[in-house]
Amino acid sequence: MPTYDFKCEKCNKKFSETLSVSEYDKTKFRCPKCKSTRVKQQITSFQTVTSRKS
Ligand SMILES: [Zn+2]
Repeated sequence: MPTYDFKCEKCNKKFSETLSVSEYDKTKFRCPKCKSTRVKQQITSFQTVTSRKS
């Protein structure tokens, strides 16, 4: 499952959630600190595999 990193725009708290893609679609993310929903997703440490044509 991928890990999504977020940053709260209100208190600048960074947090991460590990969710499946289907869960991600229906989850409303909240800052664990201030409960704000104004969270911004960060670029995650996803492994972007670029398949090369050889
Ligand atoms: Zn917050």
